[in-house]
Amino acid sequence: MKKILAIHTGGTISMSQNDQGEIVPNAQNPIAHPTQVLDDQVQVITDDLFNLPSPHMTPVQMLTIQQRIAQAIAEGLDGVVVTHGTDTLEETAYFLDLTVPDTIPVVVTGAMRSSNEIGADGLHNFRSAIQVAAADASRGKGVLVVMNDEIHTARYVTKTHTTNVATFKTPAFGPIGLVTKGQPTYFQELIQQTVCDLDHVVDHVYLLKAFAGMDGTFFDALNNDQTAGLVVEGLGAGNLPPQTLPAVQRLLDRQIPIVLVSRCYNGVATDIYDYPGGGIELRKMGLILCQGLNGQKARIKLLVGLSAGLSATALRQFMRTAVS
Ligand code: ASP
Repeated sequence: MKKILAIHTGGTISMSQNDQGEIVPNAQNPIAHPTQVLDDQVQVITDDLFNLPSPHMTPVQMLTIQQRIAQAIAEGLDGVVVTHGTDTLEETAYFLDLTVPDTIPVVVTGAMRSSNEIGADGLHNFRSAIQVAAADASRGKGVLVVMNDEIHTARYVTKTHTTNVATFKTPAFGPIGLVTKGQPTYFQELIQQTVCDLDHVVDHVYLLKAFAGMDGTFFDALNNDQTAGLVVEGLGAGNLPPQTLPAVQRLLDRQIPIVLVSRCYNGVATDIYDYPGGGIELRKMGLILCQGLNGQKARIKLLVGLSAGLSATALRQFMRTAVS
C-alpha cells in the first residue's frame, strides 16, 4: 500500500464559514483527519505543519515545508500532498519545484470554498491530490498543482479568479493532465530542470509592476543596502516608461540584479523594441529578461537563486529561461 504524507499548512481548505457568513480559520483542521479519504488504497500520514491563511506564508515557511518533504523522501514515503491557501499557493508550489529533488510526486492543493459551505471543494481536491501523488505516472513531473480535476505544473500555473473553483489555470500551455473519477491521465511532458539545495532563504527580494506614466519613485525606494534583488513586471513584450530609467540605472549601479518579465497574462518577455525604455535598451542596461514566468514566480526563482549563492553570471543564466 502506498504511503502518502499530507502536510497541512492552512488556507480556505481548512477554514469554515461562521453564522455571519465570514470565512474563518479553525483550531482543528476539518480535513486533517477525514475518515478514510481513499478507503484502503493508500495510507495517509498527517502532519499539521502550519495553520496559516496563505497571505501569511513567507519563504521561511516554504523552506520548512521543503525540509519536511526532504525528510519524507529520506524516510522512503511514496508521495507528498501539501494543502495550502490558494492566494500564494503558486509561489509555495514553485519554490518547492525549484528546491525538492524530483524523486517522488509532490502535489499541492487547496480549496476555494471552506469546509462547511455548500459545494465545498476541499475534500474533493484533497482526495484528487492524494490519488495523483499515489500514481506511478506522476513521478518525474516536477511539483504538481491539483485543483478542480486538473493537474498543472507548479512552474506555470496561476490563480486567475478571486472566488471561482476553476481559478487555477496555466495560461500559455494548459494543464498537463486531468483527474477523471480519481484516475490521473497526462497529456504533456515538462522540460526537466535542476533543483537548488538551500539551507536558508534571503530576504528583501521585491516585485514591482509597471504602469503608464510610472516614474522612478518605487525604484528609488529600493535603493538601499538591504535590497537583494528586484523583479519588474514590464509593459507588453517587456518595456518600461522612460522616466523610470535613471532610477533603474541607480539600482544596477549597486549591483542589484533586476529581472524583467511581462505584466501580460500570456506570452514571454522579449527584447524586440528599440526606443527609450524598450526591451532592447533594458537588456543593454543589464536587466535580465526572464521568459515564461509571471512576476510572482520570477521573484521566487530570483530568491532561490540568490539563496543558493549563485554568482552574478550563474544567476543571469539561471533566470534567463524557465528551465535551468
Ligand atoms: N485567502 C485564502 C488563503 O489563501 C484563500 C484560499 O485559501 O483559497 O488562505
